[in-house]
Amino acid sequence: MPCVVALLAGCTASADEGGGSPGAVAPNSSGGGGFVVRHEPPAGADRGDASFLRDRKLLERSSATLNAFIDPGRRVTVVARSCEGEGSGYDPESRRIEICYDDVARERALFRHAGHRPADEEVAAVLVETFFHEAGHAVIDVLDLSFTDRAEEDAADQFAALMLLRQGGDGERSLRFAAKEYELTAAEEEADAESDGADADGDDGERDEHSPARLRAANHLCHLHGSAPGRSRDVVGPTLSRSRAAGCGTEWARVRGAWTERLAPLLRR
Ligand SMILES: [Zn+2]
Repeated sequence: MPCVVALLAGCTASADEGGGSPGAVAPNSSGGGGFVVRHEPPAGADRGDASFLRDRKLLERSSATLNAFIDPGRRVTVVARSCEGEGSGYDPESRRIEICYDDVARERALFRHAGHRPADEEVAAVLVETFFHEAGHAVIDVLDLSFTDRAEEDAADQFAALMLLRQGGDGERSLRFAAKEYELTAAEEEADAESDGADADGDDGERDEHSPARLRAANHLCHLHGSAPGRSRDVVGPTLSRSRAAGCGTEWARVRGAWTERLAPLLRR
């Protein structure tokens, strides 16, 4: 899902050393920032998926949620567009989040293959989680935080979890679907690896700085469980082990605390 492969510079948020990036923003200096959404005309094949995204106002509503919570101090443009397989991502050069119409088709196919129909709610949840993940990269960029690639991806996933869990029951449901998406992706990758043979690793030249999909699923479920243990006992199972689940309350408190501290300069007052 979110920027599966770093074809767009964005998912790695790999700002050039020494000035390629627009740089950090002075906290609360301008007060004029925010996430602004734009929909580009879709390529013919993406028309239905573009309508799905636009008609449900997924990006507009999620941006409004974000804008009510933080002021990034700069404009971050959120562009919905036909990406022709590039994958959604964040580009620090243009300070732009790209959300791909073709992600809608991919997610729908993934869930339908697993028996979810029509999968509208699942697809919408995953697209919102993708947006918040990319917004996490944007916030990391604006705050000029320094992470390794893998740690930044994990932090962006945690930011997405934070934004969803702040929304209560609806957000919890979305986070469950996002975790499900990673489980389905992991199963797909494992099946592909099996059919490609043991020596296929890396043969396609793709590079992925994210944690493995199954671990990303477990992380989301752990944060959900840590945030709302009484409403999420059922998530303990094959993906989130009982032993890890026992520590999820502490883990979520640490993750939430770290993000709350980082976000302090940007919080709306
Ligand atoms: Zn990412």
